[in-house]
Amino acid sequence: MQEFQGKTVYKGTAMGKVVILKEKDCVVKRIHINDVQAEMARYEQASKEAARQLRVLYDKACREVGEANAAIFEVHRMMLDDEDYVDAIRNIIETESVNAAYAVAVTGDNFAEMFAAMDDDYMKARSADIKDISDRLVHILEGTGEADLSGMEAAVVIADDLSPSQTVQMDKEKILAIVTVHGSANSHTAILARTMNIPALIGVPLHLEEISSGMKAIVDGSAGRVILEPTETQCQEAEEKIAAEHRQASRLQELKGRPSVTPDGRRIHVYANIGSTSDIGYVLENDAEGIGLFRSEFLYLGREDFPAEEEQFQAYRQVLQMMADKKVIIRTLDIGADKKADYFHFEKEENPAMGYRAIRICLKQPEIFKTQLRALLRAAVYGNLSIMYPMIIAVEEVQRIAVIMKEVRQELEQAGIPFAIPEQGIMIETPAAVMISDKLAQLVDFFSIGTNDLTQYTLAIDRQNEKLDDFYNPHHEAVLRMIRMVVDNAHKYGKWAGICGELGADLALTEEFIRMGLDELSVSPAMVLPVREKIITFAK
Ligand code: PEP
Ligand code: MG
Repeated sequence: MQEFQGKTVYKGTAMGKVVILKEKDCVVKRIHINDVQAEMARYEQASKEAARQLRVLYDKACREVGEANAAIFEVHRMMLDDEDYVDAIRNIIETESVNAAYAVAVTGDNFAEMFAAMDDDYMKARSADIKDISDRLVHILEGTGEADLSGMEAAVVIADDLSPSQTVQMDKEKILAIVTVHGSANSHTAILARTMNIPALIGVPLHLEEISSGMKAIVDGSAGRVILEPTETQCQEAEEKIAAEHRQASRLQELKGRPSVTPDGRRIHVYANIGSTSDIGYVLENDAEGIGLFRSEFLYLGREDFPAEEEQFQAYRQVLQMMADKKVIIRTLDIGADKKADYFHFEKEENPAMGYRAIRICLKQPEIFKTQLRALLRAAVYGNLSIMYPMIIAVEEVQRIAVIMKEVRQELEQAGIPFAIPEQGIMIETPAAVMISDKLAQLVDFFSIGTNDLTQYTLAIDRQNEKLDDFYNPHHEAVLRMIRMVVDNAHKYGKWAGICGELGADLALTEEFIRMGLDELSVSPAMVLPVREKIITFAK
């Protein structure tokens, strides 16, 4: 039995087998092999397993994101059997008498470089595909778990760190808990773990090379503790805790269907935050009254090229239709900082959190912005959509957005494409926006306060820097005063104001938020019912 202490990202208890998610670019050791034929057979076997995984991924992707996006897995399956690629691997195993994983890794690197050096953009892009299938084969040969957890039983996922795109690609049904050695409690990966409603710990000082997949583990999210190979007594205690958590969850279930109204009759809308269409299940399951933040940038992550207008339109329409006439607030692209996609070709920045991101990209590269706006306006016909713009710092930005919006509207009109103009608001997540919120309130329909970034910029604390978690005080008086100021300015001009940052779910502050006059709280789906309970039982 071994115990390790980390930091809580999401509470809750889980018990099960461990799957280690090794870093994608792990160094593969070169090992001399005596039985070359046996190694060759291992490679053939691994290749078959990779093909099986890709078929499963293709089917899953077809269901979740449509056939066109799923096609990449078919391409990968074909590349797996590419004659030149297979010959090169076999050749290395045979002539050098080395392990298959090494032969695959070397071949993968060589082919990836060869593709990357080509002039044709399509061929260049195949470089990443070759790396991807080689990584898949290496993981299978090395017996290490990787992002594809399909076909496995639900497990406790342990990793050095997880990027937002890795997290978003994981099959949520297969994850009992997430434990990482690094990472920050305020990162998007942490936010995703909360959305998925699974116990999660970060900053756990584990030595991954000493742990193997298949070990038993207990994750105690509330205590920030992970226990490897627990004793019989610890297992019993964990089972009791899991049962008690289930009982508490059933108590909250009774609040489903009830409006979030204080005893003196004030209605506070409790909405949910999501990152992808596949999170809608959690939203409905937890009876959220709407979606207060759809982080649309996740549509842009974990892929090799921009999502086309049609693909975005389908995704937005799906959310709107599934939410029927409930409000759905979609935030326009907030990429940059920790959310990166290679095809954007971001330059290296000294301070990415204060760099080229979010609305700045959209205003500098309006073609990207317009594609998204067109998709949004077309989708607006199908439900109760609101659009919100991130990282606003100036009145001029809102005015420029209005000009671009007008152009998009005219283009759609001219093309005779059906569309609707939705309610439009902005995120208040910079101190600048707070200080001019009286002016901004006159230009928009609503404010949604992004306390994650607002706290970061107000306290000058990088939300990604795990060393600063102790200094990151979201209850800081400066932040609370700013929230009050924003609400007052919104109301002065007859607009509504909500919170969509993580602070909105902080039950210790719900009553204060009600007193401040907030109209809406948008929280991770699992927190909808606990927040509703606080509102219903609010004592002045
Ligand atoms: C925020 O900053 O509070 C917010 C909701 O946006 P994100 O966490 O995606 O930056
Ligand atoms: Mg933000």
